[in-house]
Amino acid sequence: RSVYVNGDYLPETEARVSIFDRGFLFADGVYEVASVVGGKLLDFHGHTARLQRSLKELELRSPVDMDELLAIHRELIARNAVDEGMVYMQITRGAPGDRDFHFPDPEQVPPTLVMFTQSKQIVASKTAETGIKVISIDDLRWARRDIKTVQLLYASMAKMAAEKAGADDAWMVEDGFVTEGSSNNAYIVKNGKIITRQLGTEILPGITRAAVLKYAAEAQMEIEERAFTVEEAKEADEAFYTSASAFVMPVVSVDGVSLGDGLPGPVSRRLREIYLDEAVKTAI
Ligand code: PMP
Repeated sequence: RSVYVNGDYLPETEARVSIFDRGFLFADGVYEVASVVGGKLLDFHGHTARLQRSLKELELRSPVDMDELLAIHRELIARNAVDEGMVYMQITRGAPGDRDFHFPDPEQVPPTLVMFTQSKQIVASKTAETGIKVISIDDLRWARRDIKTVQLLYASMAKMAAEKAGADDAWMVEDGFVTEGSSNNAYIVKNGKIITRQLGTEILPGITRAAVLKYAAEAQMEIEERAFTVEEAKEADEAFYTSASAFVMPVVSVDGVSLGDGLPGPVSRRLREIYLDEAVKTAI
């Protein structure tokens, strides 16, 4: 596989980053994941807009502008002949000579940009046909979840807890309300209405969330942006999550309680279809 590191395309075995890189020592960095379908990028401009916001919040800068970033994405897709899958990109605060909590001067310590691709079948999904099970877990992450940082340890722990409980993912709960999934935004459907938490510092503003809510509104579907509880989720007619790599994924049980008839619901299935149609149409 050919990967990208700070201006170079290299075989993955030859790619190197300093052990002093602040991404490695402090989880001081941000990332984005964009899906590829038919060799083209989905929602790319949404991902770069969020990237720029994440960078600004952390006083980080990108070593390349957004046009160059698109060019690198395309070059990696071509070099690796990716038809379906994703492109991962990460910017960290570079490698000062020593370990120091203070941010280094960006003029002296340039940020590190790494990117790689993963080929994977994502449109045709057995999982989407059967739906997934979630458990609820306390949300113990830091309070700026609106910034897409590389500190994903708690999300990993939440996924492991789900696996141990025989489930597929965990929905995190704070002050009695669901925030989001370990790597996705969470939704329930009650009496035809789509309910998902409003944006704020408690959750990541999902690019797929924004697109799905737009398409749902255009299809005259009813939407309510507000926090919901785990109890409400258990009594919902259906549920689903969204993320760039899974699109719209039906959820069929919450903490062992089956929703509806235990199969992916009609709203979730319809939204998956609409999202895929529209996102592929507008892919670049
Ligand atoms: N929330 C969290 C915590 C995530 O990690 C992700 C996936 N990056 C999402 C939501 C979904 O965001 P997107 O639709 O942009 O992939």
